[in-house]
Amino acid sequence: MDDIRDCIVVGGGAAGLSAALVLGRARRSTLLIDAGAPSNAPAHGIGGLLGNDGRPPADFYAAGRRELAAYPSVALRAGEVVAGARAGDRITLTLSDGDRVTARRVVLATGMHYVPPTLPGVAGRWGRTVFHCPFCHGWEVRDRPLAVLDRGAPGVHRALLLRMWSDDVTLLADGPAELDDGEAASLRAAGVPVDERPVAGLEGPGATLTAVRMADGTARPCGGLLVPVTLRQRSPLAAQLGAVAAAPGFVAADAVAVDAMARTTAPGVFAAGDLTTQMPSVASAVAAGSLAAAMVVQAIVAEGLPATTAPAEGGP
Ligand SMILES: Cc1cc2nc3c(=O)[nH]c(=O)nc-3n(C[C@H](O)[C@H](O)[C@H](O)COP(=O)(O)OP(=O)(O)OC[C@H]3O[C@@H](n4cnc5c(N)ncnc54)[C@H](O)[C@@H]3O)c2cc1C
Repeated sequence: MDDIRDCIVVGGGAAGLSAALVLGRARRSTLLIDAGAPSNAPAHGIGGLLGNDGRPPADFYAAGRRELAAYPSVALRAGEVVAGARAGDRITLTLSDGDRVTARRVVLATGMHYVPPTLPGVAGRWGRTVFHCPFCHGWEVRDRPLAVLDRGAPGVHRALLLRMWSDDVTLLADGPAELDDGEAASLRAAGVPVDERPVAGLEGPGATLTAVRMADGTARPCGGLLVPVTLRQRSPLAAQLGAVAAAPGFVAADAVAVDAMARTTAPGVFAAGDLTTQMPSVASAVAAGSLAAAMVVQAIVAEGLPATTAPAEGGP
């Protein structure tokens, strides 16, 4: 492919689809490349997204792709970008099939790799009865006996948060709880018991959770488990293009640093969605993708680059 696009969007989840939509509506020649693995794919539904609350993620992304079809300057391509390099004002990306594509601007929207604890039974329940975000999944497990698998100050924070969804919340420390007197008092005041016994696994049919199995063989009734998670970059692409990482935070270990205009530290490289944030959600990703695309268009105008496309008409 020899075309030089106005923009290539890498990643077609909430942030990337949103960016491509805004770029298409601005008549910018845009290529969206997507490996097709949005992080929330295992979830029952998207919790807390206005207009789409509870909608299965696959439906939501399919609707986003359908909307892009109305904009003739946007092309979608299934594939994975495995490397990126800059030459002057051009950025060339290499796909896993060896093909190369070039643009003057890139929006990175590759999401993050969510790393939950390695406890037997988590994988099959991930995004359903085992979750990292009570705002996303707390409603579905409300009023059940719930538990938090964590310790120390983060465990206290998560346990007090989860109390919004149930009066029956236990902090499972899986070893010494590492609480100071003030933290222990906060949990007592909130009616949150602490269990320091080692945790062995989860029980219940399919994605249902009925109990946490302790190493001593007993089962503690539990209908929803909040676990800590670490978000990490899925690929070295941002670093290859020269975008530096922000300081590690509560959730993301290596988020890409962006300014208020969605610019990374690398010229022409914008970023949006999970790979930039400590507060991941679909709503924020949609907003960030929209902002990044608008900033790409503003940058094109500001730099006086010639439009690389005379888009065909056909949209509204
Ligand atoms: C299990 C789970 C459940 C969740 N539930 C909710 C919820 O209910 N409500 C809510 O608001 N938030 C929820 N979230 C968080 C939410 O899903 C994310 O914040 C949001 O989807 C991030 O959007 P994104 O576009 O940044 O990344 P993603 O949606 O992860 O999309 C990134 C896309 O980029 C692609 N990609 C990655 N690397 C490359 C590459 N090199 N080349 C090409 N393509 C690439 C991926 O395959 C993927 O399709 C959940 C997260 C998880 C893990």
